[in-house]
Amino acid sequence: MKDKINVGVLGATGMVGQNYISLLADHPWFRVNHVAASSRSAGKTYGEAVRGRWHLTGDVPGSLRDITVSTIDEIELAREKCTFVFSALGSHVAREYEERYAVAGIPVVSNASAHRSTPDVPMVIPEINYHHLDIIPIQQRTRGWVRGFIVVKPNCSLQSYMTPLYALHEKFGLKQAVITTMQAVSGAGHPGVSSLDIMDNVIPFIQGEEEKSENEPLKILGSIDGSVISNNEKVKISAHCNRVPVIHGHTACVSVEFERKPTRDEILGTWKDFRGISPKYDLPSSPRRAIIYREEPDRPQPRLDRDAGNGMTVVVGRLRDCNVLHYRFVGLSHNTVRGAAGGGILNGELLVAMGYL
Ligand code: NAP
Repeated sequence: MKDKINVGVLGATGMVGQNYISLLADHPWFRVNHVAASSRSAGKTYGEAVRGRWHLTGDVPGSLRDITVSTIDEIELAREKCTFVFSALGSHVAREYEERYAVAGIPVVSNASAHRSTPDVPMVIPEINYHHLDIIPIQQRTRGWVRGFIVVKPNCSLQSYMTPLYALHEKFGLKQAVITTMQAVSGAGHPGVSSLDIMDNVIPFIQGEEEKSENEPLKILGSIDGSVISNNEKVKISAHCNRVPVIHGHTACVSVEFERKPTRDEILGTWKDFRGISPKYDLPSSPRRAIIYREEPDRPQPRLDRDAGNGMTVVVGRLRDCNVLHYRFVGLSHNTVRGAAGGGILNGELLVAMGYL
């Protein structure tokens, strides 16, 4: 790409926002030239705004340390300065402001849950349902938005099992799955769960997470139906979501049944051959392999496997027969990279490659 595209980050000072800043600092296609957050950060340089609450290894990228943080109300300024924005806003403000940016003609690529169940907003994992982006012109027409639109990514826990399930669904038809997640503490943001609650412990409840884990896959596997995306209601998912004392990396134990039971070799071959995003798009954040299968009996593990493909690859293992459904396996992905900022950036890259930005 000859000239970099100017982008903004809303909620740039939060946990996910910091990941955006870190991943975008040297991005080959995008240049961050606008950052916005709440009034407690606005007016400060980015370096001052995150002093004492920078959560990542290494320092604030030098190229962005001195950029001034705006408020999210400065929409006209954002429109002058950037082609589109990534949103890592807290959920309580995301719905209103993401719509205000879209109305103002600024496309929004969001991490927040606010619009995930909005029927004309595509919720995209590029390896799976990139074709849902075809709803963008319909969304714009229905809402009278000229240049703006909203695209979201799903909940972070889904990433550890959706791509492996989708690869199999394409060939064998997914019927039902029972999924137990073991989710890292970073998924709750900062400060998140207190250390006294999570050390030496497992918390078998994450507010709203089981509903997201059961419903969001149905939209991702759904199809555009007129002016909305209809869920695939044929698939049934039952989820148990647990918070565990792991810093990064969500793990999921999955039992699954298909329309046609594949052989073990068919499953392994399908994962091995799964191409993911079409190579014609050549996206900088796309991992070389979307899915890696580990043969060792004790993998995947968060500490050993979360950084596969720079945190963008889903690692699976422990494929075996299930006494109740057809098969069982374990999936793992990096929740703050693939599950948050990395997944959002990949959506932004896909939108550029497909000509929407
Ligand atoms: P966070 O650490 O609480 O950060 C929230 C960001 O929103 C901060 O930049 C904050 O600015 C800004 N903000 C909060 N209230 C605001 C207001 N009234 N006006 C303007 N800006 C405001 O949250 P997070 O963990 O990064 O999560 C961000 C979003 O991503 C959430 O919607 C979350 O559900 C979603 N998400 C999180 C994860 C994860 O792994 N953590 C994964 C997937 C999706 P200040 O710093 O100035 O307060």
